[in-house]
Amino acid sequence: MKKNPIGIWIVIWIISSGIAFWWDNFFVWNNQSNIPWVYNPISWFYEQKSADEIEIENEKLNKFDFYSDSSFQKFLDDNHSISTDYSINDTVKINSDFTFNRSSDFMLREKAAEMFEWMARAFSNAFNFKAKLSINSARRSSQYQRQLANNCSIGRCAKPWTSEHEAGLAVDLWVNGWNIKALSGIYYQWLIDNAHKYGFHNSYQKWMEIDGKIAEPWHWRYVWKELATILHDNNQTFSEYFYQNIESKF
Ligand SMILES: [Zn+2]
Repeated sequence: MKKNPIGIWIVIWIISSGIAFWWDNFFVWNNQSNIPWVYNPISWFYEQKSADEIEIENEKLNKFDFYSDSSFQKFLDDNHSISTDYSINDTVKINSDFTFNRSSDFMLREKAAEMFEWMARAFSNAFNFKAKLSINSARRSSQYQRQLANNCSIGRCAKPWTSEHEAGLAVDLWVNGWNIKALSGIYYQWLIDNAHKYGFHNSYQKWMEIDGKIAEPWHWRYVWKELATILHDNNQTFSEYFYQNIESKF
């Protein structure tokens, strides 16, 4: 008996499209979560706004303030800290669409959290929903920062009271379940090209001599759009800008 060649082709077609569909979604589905994020209906159609549409209150009026604890431009490194009695009173939970394991425990200062979400939506849109930013570290308590710093070699962790995470302004980012490890690649490049529009800056890109830290492609800090844009346009890190324009290093 002759087999029906059309039937065989249909079976092959079904199997190969199944494989293609699985492959297409594998990395997204494995974004550190047991729940595929594609099941979340709002994740399908992320609303997005162009950066210019997003109103940033008083941004144009803002004068940079590199020294006050609560300033979005507060400069932090081994020689510049927040006060030990500083407490942040405007932190909010980050939308769990963009957090590790969809956890709702990650906090940032409100403006930074809001702008991060817009950036993350634009990121997903830019890669046709096949790439997703997620946060695996955001605001840290000083107690936690002290624990980290105790187990850390020089240039890898900030001392207590000097971390951008303690200030509630920094996030460590993953893409589709992978830490952003390299200062290259399409996802990092998208962030370098676009994050400033949302006020974010990759603090440590130029190693110890300039930034006082090893390069951390995953670590992005909110500084407001205006300063982030200056840093972007001049290809400077915050530390480089600060020591060239605001304070002499010696
Ligand atoms: Zn970090």
